[in-house]
Amino acid sequence: MTSNTTLPIREIALAPSVRAIFSKRGTDDHSNPYAGFNICHYTGDDTQHIDECRQQLCTHLGINAEQLIIPRQTHSTNIAVIDSVPFDPDSLIDVDALVTNLKGVALVINTADCVPILLAEENAGVIAAAHSGWRGTFGNIAAKTVQKMVELGASPLRIKAYIGPSICWECFEVGNDVVLKFRQVFGYNRDILKFKHFKSHIDLQEACRQQLVKAGVVNNNITLSGICSHCNPKQYFTARTHGIKSGRTASLIIQE
Ligand SMILES: [Zn+2]
Repeated sequence: MTSNTTLPIREIALAPSVRAIFSKRGTDDHSNPYAGFNICHYTGDDTQHIDECRQQLCTHLGINAEQLIIPRQTHSTNIAVIDSVPFDPDSLIDVDALVTNLKGVALVINTADCVPILLAEENAGVIAAAHSGWRGTFGNIAAKTVQKMVELGASPLRIKAYIGPSICWECFEVGNDVVLKFRQVFGYNRDILKFKHFKSHIDLQEACRQQLVKAGVVNNNITLSGICSHCNPKQYFTARTHGIKSGRTASLIIQE
């Protein structure tokens, strides 16, 4: 299948046999919070728009719709192991991370400020995608996903990780309730819990990086996108600007 150059996506070189991709909105029309590329089916967008975007993506990847695995995320730490396709859609409800050793299966995470994490262990042929907002980070979904990959034969030392477009610490002001929760997990870690203009802020991307390292992933094998969704609302969906009822950035990983 030839690639569709009009598709607003960016591919990341994680491993030779792995494609890691995140989407951009890809539109000059910002008249509504769904304008642009959106494949997320549970945040209020029109079904026809979602289906068109999914078809474009499947064509680009050379897969059919059944091979595009999109969970109904709920800020849980539940992980689904995709062991056959088609996969039971009911088993994708209340799921915030996906792991598989199947080839030709695209694992998708949808975000609009939360952190998407893509993981690949090429030797073992195990890939994963996780959604880590502040709740998922509090629950350490990053490490739980690594553990699930290990159960399928992956070695943490060989895992390559990508932390995708998400809210930066300067944009992510939080209330005391979240600060207290994060202190339970991270103590007074000043790389994660920060201050700006006397307000509390959290660096979610850094928190995820540290959780991956603690789970055994080598720091040099972790790439941060360095992109803030909230700083770039025309290029990326951001719930803090567009509202919860808006499109989502799709982050996905697939192995050949
Ligand atoms: Zn920002």
